[in-house]
This record gives sequence, structure tokens and C-alpha cells, in this order.
Amino acid sequence: MNIDVVSKFQKRIQMIHHYVFLLFIIQRVSVQLIHMNLSWTNTIIMIVFSLLCSMIERFLAVHNSFDNLYILRAIRLIQCIFCCIMIIFTNVTDYSGTSIYAMLMMFSFDLILAFDFNDRASILLRVGVLEGLAFIMIFIKMVAFNDNDWFPMLFSAVIIGLVLVGNAFIFYEYIELKDKELFKEQRKVENIVEKNENILNMQKRLQNTNDQLNYQKNELKRANKVIKEANEEMKVQEEILMHIASSFDVPDISERIVDSVMNVRNHVFCAVYIRRNVYHNKHRHYVVKSKKGDMDNTIKDNIEDIYNSMISAKCYEKSINDNINIEMPFLSGFFINSVYVKVLGVNDDIYGLFMIGDNRVGLFNDNMSFYNSVIAQSDIAIRNAKMYNDMKHMARTDGLTGINNRIYFNQLFKETASKIVDNNGCMSVALFDIDKFKNVNDTYGHLAGDEVIKRVASVTDDYIDEHEGFICRYGGEEFVAVLPDRDIKAAEPIIRGLFEKLCEQIITYNDKDIPLSVSVGLTSYPNPCDDTEQLLKRADWCMYYAKEHGRHQVRLDDGSDNKE
Ligand code: GH3
Ligand code: MG
Ligand code: MG
Repeated sequence: MNIDVVSKFQKRIQMIHHYVFLLFIIQRVSVQLIHMNLSWTNTIIMIVFSLLCSMIERFLAVHNSFDNLYILRAIRLIQCIFCCIMIIFTNVTDYSGTSIYAMLMMFSFDLILAFDFNDRASILLRVGVLEGLAFIMIFIKMVAFNDNDWFPMLFSAVIIGLVLVGNAFIFYEYIELKDKELFKEQRKVENIVEKNENILNMQKRLQNTNDQLNYQKNELKRANKVIKEANEEMKVQEEILMHIASSFDVPDISERIVDSVMNVRNHVFCAVYIRRNVYHNKHRHYVVKSKKGDMDNTIKDNIEDIYNSMISAKCYEKSINDNINIEMPFLSGFFINSVYVKVLGVNDDIYGLFMIGDNRVGLFNDNMSFYNSVIAQSDIAIRNAKMYNDMKHMARTDGLTGINNRIYFNQLFKETASKIVDNNGCMSVALFDIDKFKNVNDTYGHLAGDEVIKRVASVTDDYIDEHEGFICRYGGEEFVAVLPDRDIKAAEPIIRGLFEKLCEQIITYNDKDIPLSVSVGLTSYPNPCDDTEQLLKRADWCMYYAKEHGRHQVRLDDGSDNKE
């Protein structure tokens, strides 16, 4: 409820009230003086009533009690009750009745205004009913009791007129104010609706901007992912390039390639297979990395077959999606849905296989540039490694026989001897010389002699390799065999076995059979020779001792110094 409005009107009414009270007192006093037979008690009661009402309102004004609606309503109710009491307990026919009814009308009107109804219709109804009733009562009073004394009637008419005009004026203002308030409220509502619409529009615009930003964000995320992947791929290629420049070690290069592909692409497995005799490797080489432990061995067991079947089918690259379990049954059970296989190398220089697998579907159907460039780079790296190993092999091997030459043997011998000395180990050294080889050359020709030397080299190489030793061509038709970690006792049967094997050899050259015989000297470290640097010398002594004592025999070092 709007207290300000209520108290504002109540304060305005104040003025009318004062004039009404004043007129009432003048009327009563005048009537009393003109009609001396009237009761002074009634006159005094009426004057006291008027003064009391006036004082109450003064009190209200001074103490700002118009702002308190409960006090205001109580006061108006008391004033109405006073009027009723006066009507009941005083003679209403003694000239003042009309004025008291008018005052009752006035107070009741104020009482209604003190309620500040928001609904215009209900105000109109209440005011109309109350005012109408009061007016009818005044009319009845005036007509029925025939107050035809003009003087008090004049006062009553003025009081009624004042009350009616005042009430009508206040009521009009009140209604107008309410209208304004309503209009204001309406404007407020309209403003709010307008603002709401603006907010809604703004919200829509924000939503649109937000959608656009989200779209851009997703695009950026996608671009970022692509850049990140490209960056990682570049890093891998850079690493491989660095390896090309810094490593000639094929196992190391292939390991790096597999690691890099697994790190960047996070596949289920990646494998590289390199066949034997690519970089002078006697055995095939594998690198297999997988996310499932038992998968590594399964792939290792099958990758060579895949390589062979691809070579024989002349199929050098394939991406398998649907028939993985048929083409590669060993992969069933590992939930692999995409496999890519590529033969490494070109034309007559094919050397291995690259293989990747993933559980994502159709992964290797397109966008293979990363793998192509990794494979191309690994090709270069492995080719370089091959060339390097070829050169190294050439530098280390004897041109005629393909076994270690003396320079490389010296290096190998030094390294082995120093390890054995450090570990308090043992080693045996045997020196071979073909018997009467000059005769072979003289009898069968120099080329036949070469064939004999080659046969001795290959038989000795295979035999000593089986016993974890190494050999070299020490001179023209002289060979050295070293057996690390074997003392003279362990080495003797091996060397005797080799002796027998060599002496069994018959080299056929130009349909002629050339028999073979050798003389061998054998010594060992630390017994009987306690200095590794003396081993070759002592083996040589022993070999010459054999030559001196009829050839075609193995002579063991007995530890004596004099072998002359
Ligand atoms: P011995 O039983 O005392 O060892 O007699 P030998 O004839 O084997 O000894 P000798 O040292 O007199 O002869 C070695 C010959 O080996 C001399 C040389 O012509 C020959 N020779 C050395 N290197 C080669 C080679 O690479 N090819 C051929 N065909 N002959 C070679
Ligand atoms: Mg000889
Ligand atoms: Mg010789």
C-alpha cells in the first residue's frame, strides 16, 4: 500500500475539516443564541466534540501520525463513532442534525480513503454507496423533519456543500493520481517488456556470437591438432634424419624408427624386419614393439613368412582392413582392424619389411605421407649403413677369402686378449699352414692354389664360428684361429677336429682332385703361455716344429722356450 499517497490526501482534507468544524461551532452557537430554549448541554457536547476532533487532527499533524495507517484508520473510525453517538444521544431535530450527518459523511469518506484501494471500481463503489447513503439520510432528515428555519439550514447547506465539494475535489485528485500511477506502472511494465525484448535480442546475438566462437574454437582445435601432429611427425623425421647422419648401425636405426612411429601414432604394433646379409649381418634382424605383451613374439614368428609371401606375389605394399584374420590368422584375437605392410627397398635391392597395425578401422587407406616419408628416410639410412658396412667389411676382410684380414685380426685379437686378461680368463690360439703349397701352385696352377686357399678359409671359418671363435688369413697360405675362453685342454679336441676336417678336403679344380694337408701349432693363455703378446709367436713356433717333424700334424705348446 502506498502510504505517501494516503497521508498526502489526509493532510489535504485537514483544511476542509477545520473549516467544517469552525462553521459547525458558529452555526451551533448562533442557533443557541437565537433559540434560547435550546439545551445548552447539547450545544456544549457539540462544541466539545468539534474541538476534540480538531485537536486530534492537530495532534496527528504535529506528530506525523498520518504516516501510520493504523492510527489514521483508528482516528477516522473514532470520529465516525463520535458522530453516531451524537446522532443517537442528541436531539437531531434541534437544528444541527444535518451538519452532524454531513460530518459523518466526511469522516466515513476519509476512512475509506485511509484504505488506499488499488482497484478503482471498488473505491467508486464504496465511496458512492457511503456518500449516497449519507446524502439520502441528510435529505430525509431535511425533508422529513421539515427544518424550515432558514438560518441553521444555511449553515447546514454550506457544511454539506463544503464536504461534498471537498470530497469530490479530493476524490477527483485521488482518482487522477491513481490514474497517473497506473499509467506509470503501465509505462514501467512497457519499459520492462521493451527491455526484456532488448535483452532477448541481445541474448540471441550473444548466442549467435557464442555459436560462431564455438565453431571457430573447434576449427582452431582441429587446426591445432593437425599442427601438433605435423610437428611431431616433423620431429620424428628430424630424429631419423639425425640418425642418418650419425648412425650406421642398422639395428639402432630400425629400433629408432619403430619407437618414433609408436610414439607419434600410438598404434597397437609396429615392426621392422631386415633379412640376413643386408649389412653383412649373418642373422635376420627384427624390431617389434606392441601394446600387448604376447603379440611381439607372434609377429616375430610370422613376419619373415609375410615378407617371403609378398616377395613371391610381387606385392610390395598393402593395406588390409577386412580380411585380416584370413590373411594374417596369427593376429586374430588381438582385435586388429587395420594393417599396413610395406616391403623395404627397391627392385633388386629389397631388404626387409615395415608393418603397422591398429584396432581403429580403415586407418591406413589414405593420408600415408607420414609413413612414406619415414620409410623413405629409413631407406636412405639403411642404404648408407649398408654402404658403410660394405666399406668396413672391405677394409676388414681379405679379398680372396672374405675372412678377416690381418689388420682387423690384430685389432680383434688385442680387444679379446685384454678382456680375457682383465677377467682372468683363458684363450687358445692356433696357427695353420698348408703343407707343400708351393707344389700345388706348381702342379695345378696359381688359380688352383687360390681355390685351395679359399676352401681352407671357408671350412675353417664355419668350423671356428660354431665354437664361438674367430679366424684370419695371417699370410699367403697361413691362417690363425682364436678360441676365447678355452684353455689348451678344451681347445685341443676342437683344433684336432678342424685338422681332420681340413685334411679330408679334396679340392676339385679342372677335373683334377687336389688333396689337402696342413700343419698346426696350438698354444694357450695363461697356460702354457702367460703373456698374450707371445701367443702368436709361440703358436708359430709350434707350427714350425710340426713342419720340422714331418708336417701333417697338430703340435701343442709344451711351455719350453726352445723350439728351434
Ligand atoms: P711348407 O710345407 O714348408 O709350408 O711348404 P710351402 O711350399 O707351403 O712353403 P712356401 O713358403 O715355400 O710356399 C708358400 C707359397 O704359397 C709361396 C707362394 O707362391 C704361395 N702363395 C702365397 N700366397 C698365395 C696366394 O694368394 N695364391 C696362391 N696361389 N699362392 C700363394
Ligand atoms: Mg706352406
Ligand atoms: Mg707358409
